[in-house]
Amino acid sequence: MFNEAIPYKIYLEENEMPKAWYNLRADMKNKPAPLLNPATQKPMTKEELRPVFCDALIDQELDDTTAYFPIPEEIRSFYQMYRPSPLVRAYFLEKKLGTPAKIYYKFEGNNTSGSHKLNSAIAQAYYAKQQGLKGVTTETGAGQWGTALSMACSYFDLDCQVYMVKVSYEQKPFRREVMRTYGASVTPSPSMSTEVGRKILEAHPGTTGSLGCAISEAVEMANKQEGYRYVLGSVLNQVMLHQSVIGLETKAALDKYGITPDIIIGCAGGGSNLGGLIAPFMGEKLRGEKDYRFIAVEPASCPSFTRGTFAYDFCDTGAVCPLAKMYTLGSNFIPSANHAGGLRYHGMSPVLSQLYHDGLMEATSVVQTDVFEAAELFARVEGILPAPESSHAIRVAIDEALKCKETGEEKTIVFGLTGTGYFDMFAYEKFHDGKMSDYIPTDEEIAESVSTLPVVNE
Ligand SMILES: *Cc1c(COP(=O)(O)O)cnc(C)c1O
Repeated sequence: MFNEAIPYKIYLEENEMPKAWYNLRADMKNKPAPLLNPATQKPMTKEELRPVFCDALIDQELDDTTAYFPIPEEIRSFYQMYRPSPLVRAYFLEKKLGTPAKIYYKFEGNNTSGSHKLNSAIAQAYYAKQQGLKGVTTETGAGQWGTALSMACSYFDLDCQVYMVKVSYEQKPFRREVMRTYGASVTPSPSMSTEVGRKILEAHPGTTGSLGCAISEAVEMANKQEGYRYVLGSVLNQVMLHQSVIGLETKAALDKYGITPDIIIGCAGGGSNLGGLIAPFMGEKLRGEKDYRFIAVEPASCPSFTRGTFAYDFCDTGAVCPLAKMYTLGSNFIPSANHAGGLRYHGMSPVLSQLYHDGLMEATSVVQTDVFEAAELFARVEGILPAPESSHAIRVAIDEALKCKETGEEKTIVFGLTGTGYFDMFAYEKFHDGKMSDYIPTDEEIAESVSTLPVVNE
């Protein structure tokens, strides 16, 4: 049944792994807008960012012109533990759908943290160590980022303090224990250990927390402790840069077999896996060398791209972070209970936001019952149990393949399979029991949270 010319899994050799990250911003004509200091409304300077972020990461964050950043040897060694990741030709899925489309997925779930987030976690921990720091603080929603960071910190012997959204802390005790196994300390957020946590708890007693609120707590703790910095798992330019390893490997694997994709699809929470996957392909498009369709997939319950506003906003609920210009639902937006925790963020990467604003990529939203239907079908035919986040991309890849079935077109579709769903079995249970709902925010709800956007004179 397999096409003999193309194997089920395309693996690169270890010595074919990328030696440099690709910075997509270098090829963007319209650069992403700079982070602003909320007090002065001026672009954040290196000095202003220094108390929060590691020095080397600030350089990466602010650099819109250097196209390639060499990946330090120690990071490449760590990557070797779980990379290169396979690019899989979804022969079984194609057959099940009866589509002439050719479907490929880049599988990033083959490490203990279970997602692509380790690609940036190890880089951020490395630079923190290089700077002689004692440790880092961060937030985690569903727990993938916290897990990845705790693995990275234990490798470099750094202290790791994780603020975990309370609802996940309670619902995902196993995630918490994985983090503790790697030596991290995990605090449910909002907590009484920070000023901003106490304030939020006072205003909303009984709240089960949000990502934006956990970010505020983690930033405050980084500021308060000598030798600590804050690290973030998505949204920022530096994270997009590290995640380019996904796209670079994908492109190298496709090039080996002379395959050119027509459509590239990824789920979008803060935008890091999608930004990384599309980076080298978008670079070609920006330089006028090739054309591709890029599709971001988001949950209908948290539709930053498809129903958000392109404006400066806070990255966190407590408004302690710089302002970023992005597609946003407002930093006070609390999405309804959706099981793709990694996609419940109010904003979107400034890089992807600019590209979307300039019409260089598309976005679509899907409801979670349709997502789980696709997840289950995928698991049954391709074997991998996908994360709910990743399954958003699966849903749209299937839909595009079914369109090809109608038209007879043999399009090549590539999507990012960002992770596995072993810690999401409560969500699968709800789906199987028919108890999963598809809440979609009303226009009024979105208008209300967007009305609180800060006023910025651009
Ligand atoms: C965090 C996460 C995402 C979403 O984050 P992005 O920054 O948008 O990539 C997607 N899939 C998985 C498995 C995740 O853990």
